[in-house]
Amino acid sequence: MDLKAYIRNIPDFPQKGVIFRDITPLIKNPEAFKFAIDLIVEELRAYDFDLIVCPEARGFIVGAPIAYLLGKGFVPVRKPGKLPYQTVSDFYELEYGRAELHMHVDAVEPGQRVVIVDDVLATGGTALAIKKLVEKVGGVVVASAFLIELTYLNPRELFKDVPIIAPIKF
Ligand code: 5GP
Repeated sequence: MDLKAYIRNIPDFPQKGVIFRDITPLIKNPEAFKFAIDLIVEELRAYDFDLIVCPEARGFIVGAPIAYLLGKGFVPVRKPGKLPYQTVSDFYELEYGRAELHMHVDAVEPGQRVVIVDDVLATGGTALAIKKLVEKVGGVVVASAFLIELTYLNPRELFKDVPIIAPIKF
């Protein structure tokens, strides 16, 4: 299946010069959504891990079915003020702007092995920030998975030393 055909490219969103890769046509199509999730799930079977760690909001859409299918736990990473319990946090640079992410302090236990999942790997800043959060509490990031990798933004220069699964590449 040509998954790229289900990605809508929006020029100058959310700001001029950025081409936004809109995943909503893909997740709206039952066959395409299933095909993409199943591809990631099959590749992740090669890794020994405990938890899927995902940033809101689009990351949840991709990460939750993967966690369910592989029988893993799900850990949400959220913007400030959303998580009810004590958190660890990190600032990071986005393709457009600066942001802060939080995770519950006890979400990942020391020594637990995690896979980071999100919809798009762009500059790698978000994935790196999540890796730092996981490592702050003693977890180990063993792999990462995305629907889309924007190779032209060179995310692997920033988000190093972690295997990356991404069925769609631009
Ligand atoms: P990065 O931190 O790698 O630069 O950006 C990745 C984060 O920003 C992800 O959480 C992703 O949801 C969002 N993002 C950046 N660019 C795009 C894009 O073109 N399409 C979508 N759907 N999300 C994007």
